[in-house]
Amino acid sequence: MTVLPDSPLSLWLDTYGPYTPEPPLAGAVAVDVAVIGGGFTGLATACELRKADPSLNVALLEAKTVGYGASGRNGSFAMTVVGLGFGTTALIRGKKFLKKAHTYMEKAVDYLEEIIDNEQLDCQKIRPGFLRVATTPSYIKRLKHQVDLMQSLGFDGITWIEADEAKAMVNSERYLGGMWEPRLLLVDPAQLAREEKRLALKLGAKVYEETPVLSIATDAGDGKFHILTPSGALTAAKLVFATNGYSHLFPELQHKQIPAFTYMIATAPLTDEQLAPIGWAGNQGIEDARNLIHYYRLTPDKRIVMGGGPVGLTYANKLDADSDEKVFKHLEDHIAFLWPHLRGVEITHRWGGPFSVTLDLTPALGYAGDKRAVYSLGCIGHGVSMSHLNSCVLRDLILEKETELVETCPFVNRRMIAWPPEPLSSAAAHTLRGYLRAEDGFYERGLPKR
Ligand SMILES: Cc1cc2nc3c(=O)[nH]c(=O)nc-3n(C[C@H](O)[C@H](O)[C@H](O)COP(=O)(O)OP(=O)(O)OC[C@H]3O[C@@H](n4cnc5c(N)ncnc54)[C@H](O)[C@@H]3O)c2cc1C
Repeated sequence: MTVLPDSPLSLWLDTYGPYTPEPPLAGAVAVDVAVIGGGFTGLATACELRKADPSLNVALLEAKTVGYGASGRNGSFAMTVVGLGFGTTALIRGKKFLKKAHTYMEKAVDYLEEIIDNEQLDCQKIRPGFLRVATTPSYIKRLKHQVDLMQSLGFDGITWIEADEAKAMVNSERYLGGMWEPRLLLVDPAQLAREEKRLALKLGAKVYEETPVLSIATDAGDGKFHILTPSGALTAAKLVFATNGYSHLFPELQHKQIPAFTYMIATAPLTDEQLAPIGWAGNQGIEDARNLIHYYRLTPDKRIVMGGGPVGLTYANKLDADSDEKVFKHLEDHIAFLWPHLRGVEITHRWGGPFSVTLDLTPALGYAGDKRAVYSLGCIGHGVSMSHLNSCVLRDLILEKETELVETCPFVNRRMIAWPPEPLSSAAAHTLRGYLRAEDGFYERGLPKR
């Protein structure tokens, strides 16, 4: 199994403060359910399983420390968006699917808030609303079409706002209007992941950090999974793959997804003078209307965290692309594009990480083979809220319960198109990215090239 790389620390992980990991697995241990991966999906699934059946022995194995993956590095938006957004989801999978998916995602955002509030997870959660801004006349058309689409499906919470209203929230000369959706949480994702570890331990799950799974054998004749790690072996009756953008490392999931890389930067805390022309008193989470979106927010200590733009791909799904200087520069330029007075502002953090992409850009959960193992992957860049409701689906699948949630989740046990082997996989991924980039260029004709 590939060793996961050390990667530049996200703002969230870097500013977390002292952290003590749980000790690695040692010796031989047997449990009912093993969860591989200590991101939101794995941690939340361990919690849900213990809540549903406190007699179940549950152990979570994390290669590094919890929140090492996308969960500790993301933009912190817990939102309703699936895949590449409303328009693309309708185009690829149809309006009926979009309606089901959006209903599920609304529930996902609310469910995450419920867990944070009920369990008092200390993660700086706010619910400031989501603004998707149009920066060209073509994007105005695109967003108005999306608002009409969502309203035609019965989602009246999504509305169009004119430029002056958008600018009254967050002022940039580039904003020509936007799509407004109040249902958005912002969190500190590293704090959330580590609070979820605290909860998992409190509920009685075992958590082993710095414990990479090296291999999984099923041929011992006892119907169990024999999981090998550097200093211990775990036997489990059931298995949860919560490995997201790393899932291709496991033969069972090799062609279900590929990792693609998104990048972020954080400024130093802004001064009152720097912030005054922008406003942003409501701390709204913002994305633009591109395919290869920019996503950005203001942190409680008044930093701008900016992510997105160009997406990284690697040959043969290598995991060595957590940094990209060109994209970091692009993101700095994008801050100056929105707010020219911030050109040259100090950047304190630059990082990136893999997100999981299925060939049809749609999330997927289900049984990996027979009913003893389940997986969740393909959240694209939108898994913060989704991973938490997905954990309830994974719980029900593991417990083999045919619940309403499983029935209404549009991502479960669906027929998937496998990514082909190399070099076809790279060719397909580059073609898809090239198309998305070209379309963005078309929508942005007339804007200065960045
Ligand atoms: C830079 C960035 C920005 C993003 N921004 C947003 C956003 O603003 N909003 C949003 O909704 N989504 C965002 N996403 C996506 C979101 O973060 C993910 O969808 C979500 O965190 C997935 O959680 P997870 O638990 O499934 O996966 P991960 O958090 O990736 O966890 C997988 C874990 O598996 C572990 N693992 C892998 N292999 C092994 C092994 N062999 N043995 C043991 N452990 C292993 C890894 O170490 C990792 O910790 C972003 C992603 C990135 C990278």
